[in-house]
Amino acid sequence: MSKARTIHLHKRMLMHKDRSRKEVEEIVRKQMLNVFATPKLLRVPRETLNLDGTKISAHQGRVDAMLRGQRIAPITIDMALTQKCSYACTFCYAGLQQNDQSPVPWEVYENFLDDCVEIGHAPGEGVRAISLVSDGESTENPNYLRFIKKARDNGIEVAAGTNGFKLKWDELPYLIENLTYLRFNFDAADPKAYAEIMGTSEKSYETVLDNIKECVRLKEEIGSEVTIGLQMVLLPEYADQVLPLAILGRSLGVDYTIFKHCSDDETGRLGVDYSWYTSPLAIDLLKAAEGLSTDTYSVQAKWSKMRTGRDRKYSRCYGTPLLLQMSGTGIVAPCGSFFHEKYKRYHIGDIKETRFRDIWASDEYAKVINHLKSDDFDAKTMCASLCLQDKVNEALKELIEDGKDLPPASIMHRNFI
Ligand code: SF4
Repeated sequence: MSKARTIHLHKRMLMHKDRSRKEVEEIVRKQMLNVFATPKLLRVPRETLNLDGTKISAHQGRVDAMLRGQRIAPITIDMALTQKCSYACTFCYAGLQQNDQSPVPWEVYENFLDDCVEIGHAPGEGVRAISLVSDGESTENPNYLRFIKKARDNGIEVAAGTNGFKLKWDELPYLIENLTYLRFNFDAADPKAYAEIMGTSEKSYETVLDNIKECVRLKEEIGSEVTIGLQMVLLPEYADQVLPLAILGRSLGVDYTIFKHCSDDETGRLGVDYSWYTSPLAIDLLKAAEGLSTDTYSVQAKWSKMRTGRDRKYSRCYGTPLLLQMSGTGIVAPCGSFFHEKYKRYHIGDIKETRFRDIWASDEYAKVINHLKSDDFDAKTMCASLCLQDKVNEALKELIEDGKDLPPASIMHRNFI
């Protein structure tokens, strides 16, 4: 990601901070009156799909191997195929982690995918799933489909998060048939707000809407089990988009719409007001949104993380061997919070320079992972807020330090822990 993009992104962020919180809250109150006035279907939004928790208990054998001190393969790798993105979302955490562009050649990805199935504490115990999310818009990589095909051929599940703008219609049938889930990052129901928040044009909004509709249509036509959803990163300044987006998702026929907190770095550079997520208005608003769920459509707030706010419940980070991350540059790091050059001490390797299987087997890997779970490390003060591994870490802390059982795993998407 370029420096210019980061500056642009922060300028936009400041622009939105000027928007009156009072003004937004007034709109929200009026919207809630309308929603509460309509009859409710009384659905439990998490009945079939729980997007708020960890699924590591579905992988007890691998957790046990890790606790025995064996070197295990990650169950899930969260990664991007590029650092590029044609959008400039106001809240983009990747903007805080930008490094110089460093594309990964196709042959390197081929080796990486072969290594994913080769590694592990026992035969057949390799990487189970890859989520194409992380620090870049993977659809910008011309090898996007090729990567997914090769991963699927290797028996690895793949899921994708995307702004949805560059999806190609001739590639959609394969994606719909082969992805476990396809999540559209879609941060407003109103085209103007969408363009402002996501740093793009109103025309992009229309393009993405068409792409979502086509995905939903194909899912029905093919009879695919892919889960299609919308995700809004919720900042208080954009609260007036929550209910309209929950309604839009329902009319589009997607499987879910989720509202999540915004992650900030350890110095709070994005200036996220975490107290807002637990304010009475935010809770009422998100409950009203969840009330729009139906038999086939689930609206969910990521309550657990919103309630946690900035305050982690653990100091030691145990989870990264189970859920590892890789930047669009090819840098393998325990987590996306440490992709930036200034956290080089946490970089385990770069797949452009070293095969992934060798990075995984290296002393450096052990050094970094062991440091994160040592007394020398404190996630409460040394990490960004609410990282991807947060729920995994909470569950492992309770297991290892408090002797509690792992929480039950939801049925769907078990390899995306
Ligand atoms: S707790 Fe810290 S080190 Fe561990 S994954 Fe989260 S941000 Fe990274």
